[in-house]
Amino acid sequence: MSDNRLDGRVALVTGAGSGIGRACARALAESGAKVHIVDLDQPAAERVAADVGGWAHVVDLADASAVDSLPAEVDVLVNNAGFQHVAALPEFPPETFVRMQQVMVTAPFLLARKVLPHMYSRGWGRLVHVSSVHGLRASQFKAGYVAAKHALEGLSKVVALEGAEHGVTSNSVNPGYVDTPLVRDQIAGQAAAHGLDESDVVERILLHRAALKRLIDPDRVAELVRWLCGEHAAHVTGASVPMDGGWTAA
Ligand code: NAD
Repeated sequence: MSDNRLDGRVALVTGAGSGIGRACARALAESGAKVHIVDLDQPAAERVAADVGGWAHVVDLADASAVDSLPAEVDVLVNNAGFQHVAALPEFPPETFVRMQQVMVTAPFLLARKVLPHMYSRGWGRLVHVSSVHGLRASQFKAGYVAAKHALEGLSKVVALEGAEHGVTSNSVNPGYVDTPLVRDQIAGQAAAHGLDESDVVERILLHRAALKRLIDPDRVAELVRWLCGEHAAHVTGASVPMDGGWTAA
């Protein structure tokens, strides 16, 4: 088995119906893993599952009991599902804030708790959390998202400490702006709000802090996730790995 093959491994990717999660599911399947596709969106989940020869699970991860229906025999867990809401704090809807924590913090915790006994029994496991530059830095108007991603970073580090003696690593990846529907929605919203072209929104607003003025391809993020799952990455744990075109360097 080559160093980064995942033949015989089972992966579970949340939010795998679209964007970064879909790219991760494809990359892990290409490496030989069988992949559980978890998403709220049934047609999308079924399409990706058919595409990668995996299994679709249609659940709302905001519902803690939904995790009960998901498998525990998982060797690679990618906690990716998430969503954005942009509003100033006085207007930020409390129910949206709570839902963001449920999907992006509580569900990753419940999933980790569920799959770790299997990983420990096999002496091998990989958890990758799709965090964000907003797991490391704050931006205005993103209270729910920034709070959730910072919490996810903390969870990842605790898993790293507890999992080390069992051959389990846990890391976060921290993308800048990736070309997915989540970001396209923000671009359209900002363009309408400021009366700008979408390309101006990308360069002048979203990528203002980035050295590289291009959105990231989701496949590039998936390559990083795949790299973290290889044997060569056994010593990389508790880390947060930015892929942000220099956004956090500025
Ligand atoms: P996306 O909108 O393309 O995909 C997100 C997927 O998650 C969708 O298929 C959606 O149905 C699913 N999902 C959302 N809520 C869910 C729920 N309650 N239960 C089950 N599934 C749910 O977005 P994306 O850009 O691919 O984002 C994936 C992850 O990457 C998110 O956690 C996001 O915060 C993170 N991220 C994205 C960017 C970016 O620029 N796009 C940057 C940094 C981090």
